[in-house]
Amino acid sequence: MTLFKEVGNLLADPARQTVNPGAGKHEYTGALKCDVCSGPIKVSTKTTVPKYTCRDQGCVVINKEGVDRVVQGVVLGYLVREDVYAMVAPADGGAELEAVRSPLAAKRAELAELETAPRPQGARAKVAMLDMIDELEGEITELEERETRLTPGPSPLAELFDHGPDIEPRWKATPVEVKRQIAALLLSTDGPLGQVRVMRVADSESDAVTDRLRWVTTD
Ligand SMILES: [Zn+2]
Repeated sequence: MTLFKEVGNLLADPARQTVNPGAGKHEYTGALKCDVCSGPIKVSTKTTVPKYTCRDQGCVVINKEGVDRVVQGVVLGYLVREDVYAMVAPADGGAELEAVRSPLAAKRAELAELETAPRPQGARAKVAMLDMIDELEGEITELEERETRLTPGPSPLAELFDHGPDIEPRWKATPVEVKRQIAALLLSTDGPLGQVRVMRVADSESDAVTDRLRWVTTD
């Protein structure tokens, strides 16, 4: 299976929608776990700067803003990738799909013409013609793969987040409950990005946020 199909199937699985249901004010609390006890993470606003803490046992404390910045960077970096793009493409496939289809039609016509043309006489001319056919077939295969990637399939992600430019401002404008659903789809042990686990400083390479987060997948 291609990565696109795997992710598509993964996102289409209704069983995946059950990750931490319930209302929440913060986009990533449902996706974060304490790496020490595997328990949930909550936001603590008792301090002047909001922190994430281990909800039940207090094993870990970490700056919320720093974690949000890192996690958001990974989520948005994933959502702009071309192989993921197909999952959030509009129903008509968009201008990008059109930009693949017209050269594809032209190359197919060119190939059909070559294949029905009379064979040239000389050996060298024959080889040159076969080379041209090979090259065209390769180009067509590549365009067909891109067409497949850009052709929208059933995708819960497409309903949650439209494709297009300006991903950062659009993400900012997305309602928190929708961001939480996207986070639940992408950030889990069987999701494409993995579950985000917060480690203690003592277990980390350094106290930098990036060193204190562990991205865990089942495979
Ligand atoms: Zn804990």
